[in-house]
Amino acid sequence: MLSVLATFTPFSDHNQSPRNMYQCQMSKQTMGTPCHAFDTCSDNRIYRIFSPQSPVIRPSSYFQHSMDDYAQGLNSVVAVISYTGYDMEDAMIINKCSIERGFGHGCVYKNYKIDLTAAQRRTSDRSHLQFGTVGGVSSEVSRFLDPDGLPIIGSLLMKGMPFYAYYDIFSLKQVVQFYQHEEGWVEKVSLMGPTKRVFSIQAGFQNVCIKVRISRNVTIGDKFANRHGQKGICSKLWPTENMPFTETGITPDILFNPHGFPSRMTIGMTIELLAGKAACINGCKYDSTAFRFSSQTPAHLSFSEELFRAGYNYFGTERMYSGLSGYEFESDIFLGPIYYQRLRHMVSDKFQVRTTGSVNPVTHQPVQGRKRAGGMRFGEMERDCLLSHGASFLLKDRLLNCSDKAYFYVCLQCGNLISSMYNHLRIYFEDSPIYTYHLLHIDLDNYSSNYKYDWLCNVCGEFGYSKLVVLPFVFRLLIFEMASMRIKLSLKVN
Ligand SMILES: [Zn+2]
Repeated sequence: MLSVLATFTPFSDHNQSPRNMYQCQMSKQTMGTPCHAFDTCSDNRIYRIFSPQSPVIRPSSYFQHSMDDYAQGLNSVVAVISYTGYDMEDAMIINKCSIERGFGHGCVYKNYKIDLTAAQRRTSDRSHLQFGTVGGVSSEVSRFLDPDGLPIIGSLLMKGMPFYAYYDIFSLKQVVQFYQHEEGWVEKVSLMGPTKRVFSIQAGFQNVCIKVRISRNVTIGDKFANRHGQKGICSKLWPTENMPFTETGITPDILFNPHGFPSRMTIGMTIELLAGKAACINGCKYDSTAFRFSSQTPAHLSFSEELFRAGYNYFGTERMYSGLSGYEFESDIFLGPIYYQRLRHMVSDKFQVRTTGSVNPVTHQPVQGRKRAGGMRFGEMERDCLLSHGASFLLKDRLLNCSDKAYFYVCLQCGNLISSMYNHLRIYFEDSPIYTYHLLHIDLDNYSSNYKYDWLCNVCGEFGYSKLVVLPFVFRLLIFEMASMRIKLSLKVN
């Protein structure tokens, strides 16, 4: 009845169905154990978690698919509590000490494939480039590269450091390429077979694959989710001494905001917490296959009784104390272990920042995209927001000053924005100006020193009517494009 992924959701028959669907989406994004051949795998990107655990609450299908060999999460102690403002709206507070003990630690393997035939001359059909430092490199470079021109395995690669080097086997011209990616360690360098180009005898292998291991320990902004479609972003690494603690001295790993329950209705998560707590107390693992319990024998009752028998609160709650003040909380806190997955959406892949930078050559507006250090699009709806708040100067700042602000000359007589031309001489003869725009035919010597450069309207053919205005650069582009379709747009400038 359920798919393989769906069977992994514990007590999924107690959840609202969209949440089970979200979990099926998210389990595909977990940073887990995708394979066991990390050493030989040369996928573009492989995510790996370092200290995964086997869930204490798992369905029977978990064994059928031997998921313990591909563990993808951690049993974390979760306290359902609204603590400060750092857990609002799906944000979650994570115990800093848990992180320091290895909670969610992982890495990304990235493979960079380098093909020398792409760098060789178009005209030559034989490879004339070879990896190596035979052409001679400075000691600054040779410190980081082996004589074969490839990085040293196990060394740290930082932005701007030498990545690989190759030379021309005939001219001995040396080229060094520098590393431009995220900081990481050289995990492996593999030599790859020939490509389409014909090999020359002198030049050796043309292809290498450099595998870099990038450490991805948990930071603020990383995404986590449990198996009930309840995702959250780490908003704060809270010092453990300031975390709330129970009477037995347990500090939770994760603080989960109780406002995440009413609208999502993930009752399966509350049952997982109860069952997980009972499992930890009894030192066993419990089955969470869907539809094993009925309304005559509800799931939560059997686990609650386990808890009660062990001397715990029947409802899975505990007395807790504020880590900040030491005072006991008035209400009991629902606390217990829940299996959490770390998802592969990480801030270090997504953060974007720009002050000034490259612009589009056509529109002169900032380029888009994180790779190019571009800007964030300020669209029509954002514009409407600022307008509705009356923040028109902020709007001007975003859409003009910080975008494609440009200065143009507009002709006061004909209103043309694109007719004013510089580099035209305005010539005075006995203190009265002579207007001309056919410069090439004038012998300047006849007019001695009485001339200066000035703006001229190409349409009116007159000087002195051009006025400087500030406009977005794309506005002139619009006028140009309209002019190309024989539509004139004139501006009235006072
Ligand atoms: Zn004009």
